[in-house]
Amino acid sequence: MPVVNRIADMSDDMTAWRRHLHTIPELGLECHQTAAFVAARLRDFGVDELHEGIAKTGIVAIINGQGPGPTIGLRADMDALPIEEETGLDYASTHPGRMHACGHDGHTAMLLGAAKYLAETRNFSGRVALIFQPAEEFGGGGEVMVQEGIMDSFEIGQVYAIHNAPGKDFGSFNTRPGPIMAAADTFHIHITGKGGHAARPHDAVDPVVAACAIVQALQTIVSRNRNPRDSLVISATQIHTGTTDNVIPETCYINGTVRTFDKAVQALVVRRMEEIIAGQAASFGLEARLEFEFGYPPTVNDAAKAAFAAEVAREVAGEAGVNPEVEPVMGAEDFSYMLEKRPGAYLMLGQGDTAGVHHPKYNFNDEIAPIGASFFARMVERAQPATGA
Ligand SMILES: [Zn+2]
Ligand SMILES: [Zn+2]
Repeated sequence: MPVVNRIADMSDDMTAWRRHLHTIPELGLECHQTAAFVAARLRDFGVDELHEGIAKTGIVAIINGQGPGPTIGLRADMDALPIEEETGLDYASTHPGRMHACGHDGHTAMLLGAAKYLAETRNFSGRVALIFQPAEEFGGGGEVMVQEGIMDSFEIGQVYAIHNAPGKDFGSFNTRPGPIMAAADTFHIHITGKGGHAARPHDAVDPVVAACAIVQALQTIVSRNRNPRDSLVISATQIHTGTTDNVIPETCYINGTVRTFDKAVQALVVRRMEEIIAGQAASFGLEARLEFEFGYPPTVNDAAKAAFAAEVAREVAGEAGVNPEVEPVMGAEDFSYMLEKRPGAYLMLGQGDTAGVHHPKYNFNDEIAPIGASFFARMVERAQPATGA
C-alpha cells in the first residue's frame, strides 16, 4: 500500500499520540486535556498560526504552503463517549465512565501526522487549515465552530474528513457523491382531550383514539407524500397515556424519530406532520401540538469533490481499495455543518474486522493512521499543487 514514506516513518509517533489520547477521553465541548495535547504537538511541528478556544476547546491551525493560493480544510473530531471501557488494554481509559469508543483519538492522531508532514514539507500552495473539533457525539461542536465563523474567517474553500469504519476492508476508502449520512430528528406530539369515566365516552374527548389515528396517518407521509425514490423513516416509538381501565385520560404523548437524507424531504415531513396532526385534532375535537426537534442535518458530499477524493484515495489504497459509491448510512455526523458551508467530502476508512463503534470493546486500529494521514497529505498536495512543482 503506497503510504507516503515520510508518513510511514511517523507510524510510531501517531500510535503513541493516539494511545495517550485514549487514556484521557473527554466529553462534549469539554475536551481540555485533549486540546492542550493537540496544541502542544502543533506548536512543536511549527505551524504558522494556532487558534485555540474555538467552540470552547476546538482548534484551527494554519500551515502556509509555497506562495499564495486558497485554503483547504481538514477536520478531525476529538471527543469520546460516556461508556465504561471493557477492552482491558494497557492504555485503557483512566477517566471512569468515559471511553474513546468511536475512534476520535485515532482521527486526531491521523490529522496530527498529516500536520507534521505538511509543516515539514510544505509542498503545496496557499494554506491548509487543520480543524480539531470537540463535541461530535453530542453538543454539535462542528456546528458551534461554523457559527463562530471558522469557514469565513480562515477563508476555507473546501473541506474533508475521515471516519474509521469497523467491518469495512482494512485500509479501504469508502465515499459517495451526495448524501452519505442521515439527518436524525426527533418529534414530540402533545394531545389534550377531556378526561372522564370510561363508561361515559360521550362526556369525554378521548385522546387515545386520536393518538392511534395520528400514528397511522403519519405513515401516509412515507407511503403517499414522499417521492418513492427518496429515503425516509418515520417511527413513532413511544405513546404514554392513561392510568387504569375505567378512566379516559385527559392527555397523551407520542414521541419518535425521523431520518432523511435530503433537506427537501425533511421540510416535507415537518409540513405534513403539522397538517396531519392539526387535521386529526380538529376531526376528534381536541388539541394536538407538534414539537419538532432538528438534530444534525444530512451529511452531503459534493459530487465533484467526492470524485476527486476517491481519485486521491486510489493513489494511497489502489483501485481495488476505493469504493466511490458506498451505501449511505442512517447515522448522523456534525461534519454536515461544515459541508453545508463549503463543498467537500466525508470518507469512511475501513479498519477491518473489529468491534463496532460505540461498543465497550471497540478500539481504533493504529495501522490505518498512516493510510488516513497519507490521504490528507496527498489531498492537500493534489488540490493545491506547489507552483513550479
Ligand atoms: Zn460515534
Ligand atoms: Zn465518530
